[in-house]
Amino acid sequence: MGSYAGDIIFRSRLTDISIPNHLPLHTYLFDNLSTVGPDHPCLIDATTGSVLTYSDVRLSSVRVSAGLRRLGIRRGHVIMLLLPNCPEFVLSFLGASTRGAVSTTANPFFTPAEIRKQVSASAARLIITDSACVAKVRGIDGVSAVVCVGQDVPDGCVPFADLLAEADDESESESDDEKFDPDDVVALPYSSGTTGMAKGVMLTHKGTVTSISQQIDGGDQNVHLYYHSGDVMLCLLPMYHIYSLVTVMCCALRAKSAVLIVRKFDMKGMLELIERHRVTVAPLVPPIAVEMAKTAAGAGADRYDLTSVRMVISGAAPMGKELEDAVRERMPNAMIGQGYGMTEAGPVLSFCMSFAKEPMASKPGSCGMVVRNAELKVVDPNTGASLHRNQRGEICIRGDNVMKGYLNDKKATESTIDAEGWLHTGDIGYVDDDDEIFIVDRLKEIIKYKGFQVAPAEIEALLLTHDHIIDAAVVPMKDEAAGEVPVAFVVRAKRSEITEEEIKRFIYKQVVFYKRISKVFFVEAIPKSPSGKILRKSLRQRLEAGL
Ligand code: ATP
Ligand code: MG
Repeated sequence: MGSYAGDIIFRSRLTDISIPNHLPLHTYLFDNLSTVGPDHPCLIDATTGSVLTYSDVRLSSVRVSAGLRRLGIRRGHVIMLLLPNCPEFVLSFLGASTRGAVSTTANPFFTPAEIRKQVSASAARLIITDSACVAKVRGIDGVSAVVCVGQDVPDGCVPFADLLAEADDESESESDDEKFDPDDVVALPYSSGTTGMAKGVMLTHKGTVTSISQQIDGGDQNVHLYYHSGDVMLCLLPMYHIYSLVTVMCCALRAKSAVLIVRKFDMKGMLELIERHRVTVAPLVPPIAVEMAKTAAGAGADRYDLTSVRMVISGAAPMGKELEDAVRERMPNAMIGQGYGMTEAGPVLSFCMSFAKEPMASKPGSCGMVVRNAELKVVDPNTGASLHRNQRGEICIRGDNVMKGYLNDKKATESTIDAEGWLHTGDIGYVDDDDEIFIVDRLKEIIKYKGFQVAPAEIEALLLTHDHIIDAAVVPMKDEAAGEVPVAFVVRAKRSEITEEEIKRFIYKQVVFYKRISKVFFVEAIPKSPSGKILRKSLRQRLEAGL
């Protein structure tokens, strides 16, 4: 499936800019430091209250680079960051970039087997982790050192403080910089694994600088995502995921905002921190929005002063119009909208137009407009032909932001990025008359009722509008007559006794016949990934196993 002569291509209404993507990522992030001065706050540790300034962070990342060198890390080597959100995460990532090394990021809650698998697949030689995880990473083949952050460093580990130590011999800094190539990989995140096995995504300096620049740079022109040096960014989504790593952390550093680093999410803690630190930008995921809209803890939002928040960004999974409205009620001063991203796209494809420096109107439920310096098309998944506005098909993107490929997987790379450079997202969506992108659902999740297509996300959004429903997920169930029918997993509100029949009737009234729910299963919780996605895979398995 390549490009056709008459491809219908959508572009941003913001004009292209010149992107300095010949620079290494860390250089790009700091090259505008003089706009704020070295003492500007950079990383605020929400746990301890300690603050690192921009000059602290720059100096420390150079030291970490030297420390990595002392541990034998060279250009192109992979190190694993197995950490909760903490300042050391950022210093390690920037230190590795400075060294010309690659960071592969992993969830600190992984089991030893999951960690081993990623270490081996990525050929990581060194792991930076904390004392809580050390036991899980001992004795892994090929790992020559385990670096441990924090005060109590177990035997056999290198204290992170050693990496930060001033080098005695500065002459050792035989520079690898000359050999820098913008196509070097800087980050190797693994995709969420929502649809299958997680894949190692090779993101280069060039690609990552491009993505950041597409989002927040603009010079004197308009900007898609307007962050500035007066902003305080809430960084509570896990940094091992691309959304937090690039769109929260890296974009904030480039914009010279302060980043409030939060280790662990709980609703009350989040609201307190927003009030205490006068947070201005809150990047969230739909499960947090659901909790905010639907639970007593979320309703507590009225008790905190959240007026500092000017922007609430939701991404990583669909957020329906109704949910968006509910969040708006809790944060009346904030602009609420979505970004649409995918690890392989570096990650951002589009942003809500009301996040622009000169905001444009946007519709609830939309994922905004494609970023500048990129092309987007919508193709018929069967024929590959590109489609017009308002026609649903697979979203494809092309631009320097797109990944270099999947690590050691030529076949998967070729079936994702075609010969013309188009990244096929696997997401079904459309572009409307105002250049706004709407994601319908993932191609793989679409339920096929006879010839008709049902998008689970649409039914889930409807279910969430019911006061007695706290959370919901829709999956296909095999059916002799129809092939597949939609069924729902529902979490009832406390003390609610709503019945299966009532829920079915509630949906019945609002949708065409093939979208009606055949069965309702009441559950305690909907399984979700740490990056905010419903794990429909595991619900389908439960169905197949007869629950
Ligand atoms: P895997 O590819 O390994 O199954 P994954 O696709 O979940 O994992 P990510 O890169 O974390 O890995 O997620 C990208 C996907 O998230 C997109 O392809 C899209 O389906 C979904 N997504 C991201 N943002 C939005 C959004 N605003 N609305 C709807 N879906 C979104
Ligand atoms: Mg994916």
